[in-house]
Amino acid sequence: MSELQRMLQANETFAEGFTAGDTPTPPARRVAIITCMDARIHPETALGLEIGDAHVIRNAGGRASDDAIRSLIISSRLLGTREVAVIHHTECGMLTFSNDDLRAKLAEEAGTDASGIDFLPFSDLEQSVRDDVHRILDTLHIDDGIEVSGHIYDVHTGRVRTVVPATSRATA
Ligand SMILES: [Zn+2]
Repeated sequence: MSELQRMLQANETFAEGFTAGDTPTPPARRVAIITCMDARIHPETALGLEIGDAHVIRNAGGRASDDAIRSLIISSRLLGTREVAVIHHTECGMLTFSNDDLRAKLAEEAGTDASGIDFLPFSDLEQSVRDDVHRILDTLHIDDGIEVSGHIYDVHTGRVRTVVPATSRATA
């Protein structure tokens, strides 16, 4: 059985017990999480979130990239979220390479030019959290009252440690 077949089979079981079909679109807890795509993180399980509770935006590193910012503007302006939590994590793959490393790999393996792509790797985990919190706070499309905080998830203990306490542009 392929992985796709296994997933679709699991979905049959999931759908049989599904009772959340009338959940409203706006997140009930009015929070948005930005975190890494790392397979060791299950944000909903780790943070006690149910279907309908929160927006979870994921990408490599959990970075406040242009596309993550795009989602946050929609999340806050159209769907009522009032808090954003940036959660990076220990042993993130983004700590293990530089833009130049990945560009060289692509040139060698695919013969492609990725000089125009910033893959947003980082070398300092806490600093990357602070940078992304500030990038969100500095986005004027996101309103002054939105509380933004920054955290690190430990993949060995499952524990979240706060690096930047909740701050809004209004109170900063
Ligand atoms: Zn990661």
